[in-house]
Amino acid sequence: MRIDAQLRRQLIEAMAATVEAHWQELTALDQAIGDGDHGAGMKRGFDALLADAGKLAEQKLPAALVAAGRTLVMSMGGASGPLYGTFFMELGKALGDVPDDVLDRAGLAAGFARAMAAVAARGKSEPGQKTLLDVLAPVSAALERGEDADGIARVAAEAAEATVPMQALRGRAAFLGERSIGHMDPGALSASLIIGAVCAVLKETPA
Ligand code: ADP
Ligand code: MG
Repeated sequence: MRIDAQLRRQLIEAMAATVEAHWQELTALDQAIGDGDHGAGMKRGFDALLADAGKLAEQKLPAALVAAGRTLVMSMGGASGPLYGTFFMELGKALGDVPDDVLDRAGLAAGFARAMAAVAARGKSEPGQKTLLDVLAPVSAALERGEDADGIARVAAEAAEATVPMQALRGRAAFLGERSIGHMDPGALSASLIIGAVCAVLKETPA
């Protein structure tokens, strides 16, 4: 698929819009098992991307992703800021050179897997610990299987839901021990929202 400047802008707008619509829900989840700042952090981060959308969209996809990751690191804060930033920067680096903005599925799947691995390294974490990795890992697998955009969005949403019965073993929520069970992980929800927003835009894009 061809991800040109107009589409790059649309992707930024779609991510910012979903955060705008859901940040209070993220706040409530982080109040339940953390310190309540994840909604505000996501809003700061994706509002900063939106404010910079023109300049970001002008750049080729890999450079735009690296720049977006830097902006997220600088603006979001919390544990999730560096993790989101790492994901975007590493995805940009993995995509390397995308001639004529054309991104193929195999390249996207490989880049996503590499970005996820960088997040895991940065967080010293792995799937199964009730974090955003519990969304990234099944989405990575779905990309490798070649699922379409709707399928990937569904996998992400179900994966976030599946963190409800899990016990947190990483991040602030881990301090709660068993009391972290019964709440969705805020980072898992934010990751599924971002992935859902990207899928909604890309499904309208010709393969
Ligand atoms: P903080 O705990 O600093 O307030 P945020 O509220 O910004 O961080 O983000 C919390 C989310 O970050 C969690 O819901 C979880 O998904 C994710 N997270 C926290 N620590 C880790 C980690 N070590 N590895 C992966 N994800 C993590
Ligand atoms: Mg928090």
